[in-house]
Amino acid sequence: MTKENNNEKHIIEPLDELCEECKESDESVIHNLMLTGFKVCNSCRLSKTIFPI
Ligand SMILES: [Zn+2]
Repeated sequence: MTKENNNEKHIIEPLDELCEECKESDESVIHNLMLTGFKVCNSCRLSKTIFPI
């Protein structure tokens, strides 16, 4: 086993706010992730609610 210097990254990725449905970055994504558990923006959450998969 090789021992490497793994620097842990503490960088918050900009992808964090990326909606998994429309791939657009929106601050509502984080909000909805906490509320519903889905990483979606408001408009995608709406369509999910109306048309649940
Ligand atoms: Zn979306």
